[in-house]
Amino acid sequence: MNIRVVKNNHPSQKPVADQSLSFGHIFTDHMFLMNYEEGRGWFDPRIVPFGDLSLSPAAMVLHYGQEMFEGMKAYPGKNGEAYLFRPDMNAKRSNSSCDRLCIPRIPEEDFVQAVEALVDVDRDWIPTAPGTSLYIRPFIFATDPFLGVAPSRTYLFCIIASPSGAYYQSGLAPVKIWIEDEYVRAVRGGMGYIKAGGNYAVSLIAQVKAHDDGYSQVLWLDGVERRYIEEVGAMNIFFKINGTVLTPMLNGSILPGITRDSVLHLCRQMGLPTEERRISVDELIAAAKDGSLEEIFGTGTAAVVSPVGHLRYKDEVLTVGNAQIGPLTQKLYDTLTGIQWGLRDDPFGWRVTVPHRFG
Ligand SMILES: *Cc1c(COP(=O)(O)O)cnc(C)c1O
Repeated sequence: MNIRVVKNNHPSQKPVADQSLSFGHIFTDHMFLMNYEEGRGWFDPRIVPFGDLSLSPAAMVLHYGQEMFEGMKAYPGKNGEAYLFRPDMNAKRSNSSCDRLCIPRIPEEDFVQAVEALVDVDRDWIPTAPGTSLYIRPFIFATDPFLGVAPSRTYLFCIIASPSGAYYQSGLAPVKIWIEDEYVRAVRGGMGYIKAGGNYAVSLIAQVKAHDDGYSQVLWLDGVERRYIEEVGAMNIFFKINGTVLTPMLNGSILPGITRDSVLHLCRQMGLPTEERRISVDELIAAAKDGSLEEIFGTGTAAVVSPVGHLRYKDEVLTVGNAQIGPLTQKLYDTLTGIQWGLRDDPFGWRVTVPHRFG
């Protein structure tokens, strides 16, 4: 793929203090764009100054939601290097999302090359304070100006990047989780296993409800029986019960997280027994009550590993591990971030150094 680069002649002021960065408000000087037309395929890959897009009000994405996205990060390495973490996995998952939504695929190597090119051009935007990183958001959406319900014949693939602060301002802090027993996020046969904007649109109402009650995240139950644990808002969920590491199996309605997969690899390497299976909310509550529930944590690119201190289910509030960070949670966080930041050995070959081509 031959990427054309139009440099931004009016670069923005970079944030001065990386420590005070929040999430998702500021964007780098450039963005990647590539168009698709039926009969022509993907064409004109380019990096251009970051700016507004022009779109017909009839663009199909605005009416029927044909859109998918990815989320990944670039980390600062030694001597101005930039690292990505398992970007091939994002490329594969992107295509699985495209398949489900009738969006044309992007060759995996082109997806990775596009991400690398944008990070390369904007590598000076990667923050360096502990815990900070450059969040990368690739997304594809339907652009045909047409009100009929059908797959669009034109699309835009766009990648933007946003310097982001440490997820936890003062170190790893346990979060409070609301187990949602009224609304559901996804069902098997639907699109719960892909990253699509629509999955977030349906989840907002429960998130608002949880926030109003002082809970930061929602834990979803299965869409049919509302009995089996699925995942948290934008994280997969893990439990350590009686020394075994448990996580819900990928059943078609759960998002196959790259952090989830990495954590399973690390746990197996540490010699811990792991199980991917159905876990009912009753089993979880029983384990919390009889003391066999040792730790709960969420996993996702944004937070990496997020300890859970409290769970609320109906009228019950359970405290997990004295609302402290468990030793396994902490160890997984240290190991994963160590690999991502190039501070530790990378036995699985997950870290990718962004090549210097444009930067
Ligand atoms: C992105 C996402 C995750 C986490 O996936 P990672 O690849 O680990 O970042 C989990 N659940 C949902 C619903 C997501 O959208």
